[in-house]
Amino acid sequence: MTKKVKVRFAPSPTGDLHVGNIRTALFDWAYARHTGGTFLFRIEDTDTTRVTDEYIQAAIDTLKWLGLNWDEGPEVGGDNGPYLQSQRLGIYAEWAQKFLDQKDAYHCYCSADELEAVREAQRAANVAPGYNGHCRDLTSDQIAAYKAEGRLPVVRMRMPDGGTTFNDLIRGDVSFDHKFVPDFVLVRGDGSPLYTLAVAVDDVLMKVTHVLRGEDLLSSTPRQIRVYQAMGLALEDYPVFAHLPFVMGQDNAKLSKRNGEVSIAWYRDKGFLPEAICNYLALLGWSPGDDHENVTMKELTELFTVEKVHSSPARFDMKKLEAINGDKIRALTIDEFLDWSLPFLTKAGVITGTADEIALVKLALPLIQERIIMLSEVPAMLKFLFVKNFAVEADSVAKITDDASKQVLQRSLKELEPLAAWNHDSIEAALRSSLIEEMGLKPRIAFGAVRIATTGSTISPPLFESMELLGKEASLARIRAGLEL
Ligand code: GLU
Repeated sequence: MTKKVKVRFAPSPTGDLHVGNIRTALFDWAYARHTGGTFLFRIEDTDTTRVTDEYIQAAIDTLKWLGLNWDEGPEVGGDNGPYLQSQRLGIYAEWAQKFLDQKDAYHCYCSADELEAVREAQRAANVAPGYNGHCRDLTSDQIAAYKAEGRLPVVRMRMPDGGTTFNDLIRGDVSFDHKFVPDFVLVRGDGSPLYTLAVAVDDVLMKVTHVLRGEDLLSSTPRQIRVYQAMGLALEDYPVFAHLPFVMGQDNAKLSKRNGEVSIAWYRDKGFLPEAICNYLALLGWSPGDDHENVTMKELTELFTVEKVHSSPARFDMKKLEAINGDKIRALTIDEFLDWSLPFLTKAGVITGTADEIALVKLALPLIQERIIMLSEVPAMLKFLFVKNFAVEADSVAKITDDASKQVLQRSLKELEPLAAWNHDSIEAALRSSLIEEMGLKPRIAFGAVRIATTGSTISPPLFESMELLGKEASLARIRAGLEL
């Protein structure tokens, strides 16, 4: 009988989750959903100097916002909790003690200065750095002497000679010679556990079957396998590993703030849709099999397999993410677009949220749905419909105060004032016949002046539709005001 898949996402929230973390979470989630398995979410918060409650909450909120719902973990619970490592310290302490009792681990009394001296000597001799095994086999007298000095020992895992080979689903067989995997610390002098202990113990106790995570953690795998051995785990119960390729910036350097690596909160505030982020990140190291790039969450769960993940680094391309976001915005229904846009409009102070305002926004949104790539563009596009003290943008004023523009505005006023029906067709017909056909102006010149006068900017939704929504009275008042400039 094949085991039911259980995949976990286990971030250490020492900051906001970023693109790399989320790509991992997305692949974890997709793999669990594809296989009908369980997606477990665990918070690795043992580094209390760097993890904060705010970051933990932000990680939870980010996963929810992205729609990466988990089956076991914070808030939802499960049979293998608690899911915050800070609430599991007793468990790690018990295992560390067991390893000491079994002689798989030992107390190491070396001070930081002594360890540094060892490293220094290793550098000088040009040999691989790492613990030299000084405390592996201390006599009881030596131990008593260290204790008398008041030294607080760390717990160190004994790495046997030889090596570790495991099969990585993406990289195939990966081997580590233990010459380069020295005895490692499981528990600090103050009793706090290290990552390698906590992660391995939890993956075993939480019955994780698959560890899909970033390539940066590849080198910690032999240490984790050593912990499984010490826990007495049967070989067939070891989790299967898959190390996802690095995400590089466009300049081929490791992704950083400079070339795209910003927190997911930044993308949310810019008005990227979760579907667009997930779609784009899904393509970082994976592809659905053909060239199509518009991947829905449903498709991702249907098509995602680890076999299709590449082992070479993926490149982050902001332009592509923007293009996908534009596509996803265009695919929204107007009601969905409205729901996504309202918080941006209220936050920018463009509307307060009255029913009348919302009704007008809903009428205006179809005008801009084709034109924006991020929701944060909505307020600037629709502001002209709501401002109380309308004014032409400072850098556009000069574009309507020349003689030609004055003539355009004067003529527009004359043609528009008598219009009985105020709709985009009647507005367009009146302005075209007068400005273009009779005055012989180029549309860009003619309509440009009217656009600036009525919307305040050279960039706006389509002009005639905008004037229709603005209403006759306000449109004419703005043209008159433009003439006064
Ligand atoms: N908590 C680790 C980190 O955020 C990842 C643990 C793992 O996936 O093995 O770097």
